[in-house]
Amino acid sequence: MTTTPARPEDQPPAQVPALPATVLGYPRIGPNRAIKKALEAHWRGGDVAALREAIHAHRARTLGRLAGLGLESDSAIPADGAVIDQVLDASVLLGLVPRRFREAGFSATSPDTGEGLALVSALARGTSTVEPLELTKWFDTNYHYYVPEIEPDVGFSAQTDAVVERFRAFRDLAAETAGAALPRPTLLGPVSFLLLAKAVSSAESPTGGTDGALAQESRFDRLDELVAAYSALLGALHDAGAAWVQLEEPALASDGWDVPREQIVTGLRTAYTAFAGLTARPALFVPVSYGTAGDDALAALGAAGVEAVGLDLERGALPAKEGLAPLAGRTVAAGIVGGLNVWRTDVARAAGLLDQLRERHEGPVTVSSSTSLLHVPHDAARETQLDPQVAGWLAFADQKVGEVLALAGHLTAGPDALEGLRADDASRRRLRERHPQVRVEAVRRRLDEVLPEDRRRAAAEHRRAAQEAALDLPPLPTTTIGSFPQTSEIRRVRAAHRRGALDQQGYEEAIRGQIADCIRRQEDLGLDVLVHGEAERNDMVQYFAENLEGFITTTHGWVQSYGSRCLRPPILFGDVHRPAPITVEWTRYAASLTRRPVKGMLTGPVTILAWSFVRDDQPLAATADQIALALRDEVEDLQAAGTRIIQVDEPALRELLPLQVAHRPEYLRWSVESFRLATSAAKPDTQLHTHLCYSEFETVIDAIDALDADVTTLEASRSGFEVVTALAEHGFSRGIGPGVWDIHSPRVPGVDELIERLRLAAEVLDPQIVWSNPDCGLKTRGWEETEASLRHLVNATAVVRAELARVPAGV
Ligand code: GLN
Ligand code: ZN
Repeated sequence: MTTTPARPEDQPPAQVPALPATVLGYPRIGPNRAIKKALEAHWRGGDVAALREAIHAHRARTLGRLAGLGLESDSAIPADGAVIDQVLDASVLLGLVPRRFREAGFSATSPDTGEGLALVSALARGTSTVEPLELTKWFDTNYHYYVPEIEPDVGFSAQTDAVVERFRAFRDLAAETAGAALPRPTLLGPVSFLLLAKAVSSAESPTGGTDGALAQESRFDRLDELVAAYSALLGALHDAGAAWVQLEEPALASDGWDVPREQIVTGLRTAYTAFAGLTARPALFVPVSYGTAGDDALAALGAAGVEAVGLDLERGALPAKEGLAPLAGRTVAAGIVGGLNVWRTDVARAAGLLDQLRERHEGPVTVSSSTSLLHVPHDAARETQLDPQVAGWLAFADQKVGEVLALAGHLTAGPDALEGLRADDASRRRLRERHPQVRVEAVRRRLDEVLPEDRRRAAAEHRRAAQEAALDLPPLPTTTIGSFPQTSEIRRVRAAHRRGALDQQGYEEAIRGQIADCIRRQEDLGLDVLVHGEAERNDMVQYFAENLEGFITTTHGWVQSYGSRCLRPPILFGDVHRPAPITVEWTRYAASLTRRPVKGMLTGPVTILAWSFVRDDQPLAATADQIALALRDEVEDLQAAGTRIIQVDEPALRELLPLQVAHRPEYLRWSVESFRLATSAAKPDTQLHTHLCYSEFETVIDAIDALDADVTTLEASRSGFEVVTALAEHGFSRGIGPGVWDIHSPRVPGVDELIERLRLAAEVLDPQIVWSNPDCGLKTRGWEETEASLRHLVNATAVVRAELARVPAGV
């Protein structure tokens, strides 16, 4: 990419208003989860008017709040109108309604109307006859987006009225709100939209068959068409009075795409050159979140003529002078207030970065959050139950707005503006280092003493023989992934215990009753390896966080995970250790009720990290190893209590995979090592299981092997069971249970389809290593469908076992 100065006709519009300090987005669920509740009430059949009212009230509150916190300039407040998901909204605003939904009577329309809310609800949740859009992880976060579907014969149609209506709604609300100025519309940008989308073949595709299937990479062929649709949206926003528009291009921070980088960057340049060339348009602000934008992308955006670029300086690196040169004269928004963590910004470091940026960049600099604040809760000031010292280290969305503005003061008013804040922050940091739970010498000493052999088990063949003798399982052993239906009865018991309405003894009796029921049902079904059912766990990470030292849990710290689903991630703030056994008594009790083996059930270190907010004062690998040592104690105690099979779940192993390919080997090295530290206390005759929860795992298959588990159960059914072939090609020789039915749907799988999958697994892989199981935990399902499905699983397994018995082994 060249860095020649822009030609005069490429110059930004003469009167570009300054881009003020800002945040890229704000939590959309409401401080008391009003939006979640309104969505669910509507989905249960409530009037859509109540949902629209709740959305309107949330927008009004957000404008008032952000203005009150000091985002007072024009274009400072992001008008992120999405309720369910910003990618889903972009699909709808681009008129991309998949054929199956059109055939069911849906059509593109404004997502803010009653009809539009019905459409986005249907796209997200499906209907009784139509499958929903696929839901998948958003970059390396625990947020999930709805994957746009690009079909060969479905074109884009810009919903200009919809973006105008939405913008006007925000603008009018702002006019009624004290202190609020003109908001700034936000939209996912075209390049990220295409990369996050998938190309699907229409069932009715004229060529039919495999010819009709679109190659994934071909979705980029639709760029010109998409650029035309976005251009129409930009023109409409201009006419409606928007001064700036935020076009987010987070996909540029990742280089793991299936489209070559040069093609992506060329596409970027083409798209934004077209936008910049529009005669009537808002000024263009293109933030790149979740990592380093890349000098190639900055050069393309600079050459195209966008007015502002946003850099993620929490996750990403500050570009060198040469990298910034193509942006000369344009605004750079420094994303130095982290949108992915809950810690107060390190003021000295942030001010230093701003100074460096000002030195390197020839043009205006402003301050922003590194990502949208949708990943953090609303307001840390509400957490009055916490140790006040620890609470003082936290910054949720509202506190982060304050930090953005304070740091902007450093730019405008000079270094003195920050003096007070800098001193406060430094003393807070010193206290934090010395906090007795942040540094626990015994934990550190133990970690220092870990030897390489503490991460190794006996040779796999030796273990296999020992386990065969100890367990005596049939071929294709049947099992489940751990949880059984979390009935309202179970939730009531846990809630009553939490409130203090049910005492410890009453609680333990109630949970034992649930365990006994769960064991009896599994025995009646004839499963081979049983589980206790996880009735005592609200959530597989929160449960461990509540029982380990080093974590706090919040009262109001909800964040959106997907749709109406919210999580309250634990906050890992200190050195982690286990004050007492956690799961041992429940597991022992379950085992006492049956002669069949009962699996102990733990959550692995990487998943605990991934689904918590994690301390930022030491490397993740060190934190992972601390968790691993705590879990290792649990493994030892389970084993001592007679547990023969222990499962350590790592559903999030792939989620934390770095977006930059070059960083992946190092991540996989420490994550695998910490899993092994947690698990290698298992003796040769203890069978170690792990469970992983995603289907496209080709990139991590070596790492899965390196976990050195005896049995791995995997999600497989949603991806058409392709993993089985991939495992065979890889020569996977450990126990493997490719999930034979998709537990995410209430549908009971037929015996025949289960037989077919088991046959396939036993054919493609060595039948001696194959297990028979669903593809994830059953906690979201009801008992009726669960029992029916498991009965089919047991019957199907019996059929395939009989077939295998007729074929001599090894043929
Ligand atoms: N053992 C957990 C369960 O069954 C695993 C859940 C998961 O993979 N996310 O619920
Ligand atoms: Zn799972």
